[in-house]
Amino acid sequence: PSALREVMLEVPNVHWEDIGGLEDVKQALREAVEWPLKYPKAFQRLGINPPKGILLYGPPGTGKTMLAKAVATESEANFIGIRGPEVLSKWVGESEKRIREIFRKARQAAPTVVFIDEIDAIAPMRGSDVNRVTDRIINQLLTEMDGLEENSGVVVIAATNRPDILDPALLRPGRFDRLILVPAPDEKARYEILKVHTRRVPLAEDVNLKELAKRLEGYTGADIAALVREAAMNALRRTVAKIPRELIEEQSEEFLEKLKVSRKDFE
Ligand code: ATP
Repeated sequence: PSALREVMLEVPNVHWEDIGGLEDVKQALREAVEWPLKYPKAFQRLGINPPKGILLYGPPGTGKTMLAKAVATESEANFIGIRGPEVLSKWVGESEKRIREIFRKARQAAPTVVFIDEIDAIAPMRGSDVNRVTDRIINQLLTEMDGLEENSGVVVIAATNRPDILDPALLRPGRFDRLILVPAPDEKARYEILKVHTRRVPLAEDVNLKELAKRLEGYTGADIAALVREAAMNALRRTVAKIPRELIEEQSEEFLEKLKVSRKDFE
């Protein structure tokens, strides 16, 4: 039954200001996606072909999914999100049909942002998969993208942590020909992310987010979101009304320890 499930159209609700840092990335997405979707005539008049596909790459938890949703929200576009591994596992034998269905829906509902997370799962170098399942899925995806007319109102954004293992055919002109790095946050970006995630969280007066941002070297946006959530939960357990400074600091130390342990696994 999962294979027959309807393709889900989402009306996303993530805004640019919900994303801390990444100013250059946001600007690149405004120009490559938001402007063409909002002002297609201007692009036609000037003879500019906007990209059909954009690849966001960078470490996990740095906001790639959020960016795709935000650019859809800000472009007043619909959003269809899929994950590479789920295409493979759930829709065996149905995968190509599924891809066709996604694009049919996307065109029908245009403007639409189609987001493919973890695209490396379905699009490693062709020939590297003994089952040839991924070969067929990539071919279908490329056919759909090649078939999109200029200014169709459909843009495909894909995300990966492993751009190096992608099938190069994906990166040819007219496909994912815009590559955008979504980096781990520096101190300033960590400060911006902390501000976003503590917007609606009562903090004790002595909590200094600038200081904290400095300490959180190595944290991604996802780590910072988890840190604030944990600190808030602890405040709840201790029935304090505002999150005290020590609590966040304790929490961040613990987190850094865990981070070191989990990073070791990759070495
Ligand atoms: P993955 O590669 O693991 O799929 P991702 O890059 O797509 O990760 P997201 O799913 O967008 O990362 O981010 C996970 C969560 O981390 C978000 O829901 C958000 O709470 C937080 N987050 C990540 N980056 C940022 C950011 N720049 N600003 C604010 N929150 C962020």
